This record gives sequence, structure tokens and C-alpha cells, in this order.
Amino acid sequence: MPSLFRTSIALPFLAALTMAQPIIVKTSTLIDGKGHVLTNKEIVIEGGRITGIADATHRPTLDLSGYTVMPGWIDTHVHITWFFNKDGRLESGPSRTSTAQEAWWAAVENVQATLMGGFTTVQSVGAQLDGQIRDLTASGALSGPRILTSLVQITSGTPEQIRATVQREKAAGADLVKLFATASIREGGRMTLTVEQINAACGEAKAQGLRTIVHAHSTEGARASVLAGCTSIEHGTFLDDETLRLMAERGVYFDPNFLVLHNYLDNKPKFLGIGNYTEEGFAAMEKGLPLVADVYKRARKANVKIVLGTDAVAGAHGRNAEEFIYRVKDSGDSPMDALMSGTSVAAESLGMADKIGSIAEGLEADLVAVQGNPLDDITAVRHVVFVMKHGRVYRSPGN
Ligand SMILES: [Zn+2]
Repeated sequence: MPSLFRTSIALPFLAALTMAQPIIVKTSTLIDGKGHVLTNKEIVIEGGRITGIADATHRPTLDLSGYTVMPGWIDTHVHITWFFNKDGRLESGPSRTSTAQEAWWAAVENVQATLMGGFTTVQSVGAQLDGQIRDLTASGALSGPRILTSLVQITSGTPEQIRATVQREKAAGADLVKLFATASIREGGRMTLTVEQINAACGEAKAQGLRTIVHAHSTEGARASVLAGCTSIEHGTFLDDETLRLMAERGVYFDPNFLVLHNYLDNKPKFLGIGNYTEEGFAAMEKGLPLVADVYKRARKANVKIVLGTDAVAGAHGRNAEEFIYRVKDSGDSPMDALMSGTSVAAESLGMADKIGSIAEGLEADLVAVQGNPLDDITAVRHVVFVMKHGRVYRSPGN
């Protein structure tokens, strides 16, 4: 590797360089995000965008040969403000035990860990703090992924109140609407909103030009949401084949999540006793794991468009890439399909396929490189060595 990488001043220097003049990234193995593998290519980047991909012939600014280069990964489902407080217990924002400052710094740490873990775009669904964090990462003042947020989660209200909430949050800068059509899996996942409430949320979101992402475990809640025009279903633990067929027919995206359940089970003492994190709730989550694997396989069979979402909460930020591994190992997804769910398909679900999610001319220069090749061994996604967002290098080999 160029000695540039080995010095501690490399990062600011590279960051300045990338903005000032074209940079040439040399690659030996490149997975383009759309299902293709390219070998020995150079990526030309100007002003934060990819302006060319060609056979590697020029002297590179950055040499990533020996690694596998991919588009920056996209997580369509995170909760970027959730953290463990000084007592090692879950918090989702300021509280009686954590000050506003502590909550703020925890969120800053979360976004930085997420970016260093290879994710250059995330959708946070959602908390008020998300908006400020989003704006700071967008301006470059804060190191973090590109963030989209719902700012709030809709869980109740009359249809009129729900419409007003959608309008208010759109005015406040929400990028999407997040709706809870069913209870948590820890409470059985039954439908918790009426068809009228769901129609109000999805209908008003559409009128406002926003996507609607729906938390739904039961078939009833998911089906009502799909019929109401929502754009994506999260979790979907108990979905039947008919609902999956309907989703495929209507182009509704599916975001099943393994990491969140594993993360809760692995960190049980940090959650147990808070709200619905009961022994019964943990038992339901454990039972949910094979159900997620099953619905995942059935969704693939039904040709539902599957996106990568982790539902990353406290304990999972920075480990988002584990979701790729669970998908391959637990539901038999091919590594290429899993990678596409976290690149081009995720970008399409966000309405951003012309900006992110693949390595192609005209797109944002968002790149991640790993040691090894995830197509041969999906656990290679754990070994991120390089992260670039909008042409700026945030992580490079040796740093
Ligand atoms: Zn969630």
C-alpha cells in the first residue's frame, strides 16, 4: 500500500485532496452493487462523484488492489440515538439518568461507529435528535453516514390527528413516515392500528410525497398497510405467502431483521426489566429467529424486493454488517443477493438509486473496501479497511 496510508496525517490530507482534484482509486476486485464483479478497474472521482470507471492504467491516488471494493453500504432501519447509559442500561435519548449532553455524545459515537463499519447511508426511524445529527453529517461537520429520518414514530391517534402529524413532521424536515401497524414481537406482534388509521398515515404520506415504512409482524397489519399504499414493511415475522405475493405485486419492499434479535439476546441484562423487555418478551424473540429465516426464504421465493435493515439499537451500532452474515448463514441468501439488498436495492427503496447504492458514473463516490472477498466468505464484511463518503476518505488501510 502507498506509504501515505501509514502516516497519521494521511486522513486530513486525503480529505482535502479529494475535494480539490480528481482522484483515481485502483481496484483489483470490485462488486458494483448491481450484481456484477469487475476486475482491475480504476474509479475516477471528481467533486465527490464518480466520473469514470475504466481498466486500471493510470497512476492511482489510492491503491485498493488486494481488497474487495463495493458501494458504501446502506442500512434502511436503524435507531441511531439508542445507547447504553453509564449503568449499562438502555436509553433512547435524554432521561432521568442521562443528560441531554450524554445522549448527544452517544448518538455522535453511534453515527461514527456506523460509518467506520462501512455504512455510508442509514435510515433512522426515528427520533427528534436524528434531524440535527442528519444535518451535521450532511454538512461534513460530523463524521457519519448520510442520514434519512422520520423524526417520529406514529403509534396512535385519530385519522385526523395522524394526518396532522404527517403534515407537521414533513414541515419539520422528515424524509419519510414511520408507522407502527402492529405491536412489538415481545408483545405478540398483533395489529394495533385500525385500517382507517393506517389509511390516514399512508394516504397523507403519499399526498406529501413521503414514503411510509411500516413496522408490522402480523399478516393483518402488513396487509392493511400494503393495501393502504405503504412503501416498505419492516420485520414481517408472521407474514403469510398471500401477503408476500401482494407485496411483490405492488413493489413493496421488505426489511426483515436478524441482527436486532441477536443483539437483544446477546445483551439481555442491559435491556431486561425495561418496558416490554421481559422474560416473556425475550422468549418471544428467541422463538422469532427461525420465523425470520423462514419468512425470508418465502419472500425470496415470492420475488419480494428485500432490503438490508438491521433495526440497529444500543449495542448494534457499528456492527450493522453482521446482518449480511445472518442473511447468508441463517436464511441461505446468496452473498451477492445479500450485498445487493444493502446496496442497489436499498438505494432504490429510498428513491435514491440515481445517487447511491452502486458504483457507476454519475453516482456519489461512496465506497467501502474489505479484506477478503465476501462472495467467497460473507464474514469478510467484518473486515472493513476503507470507507469513503462523497469522495471523502474516513477510513483507510493502516488507520
Ligand atoms: Zn425499529
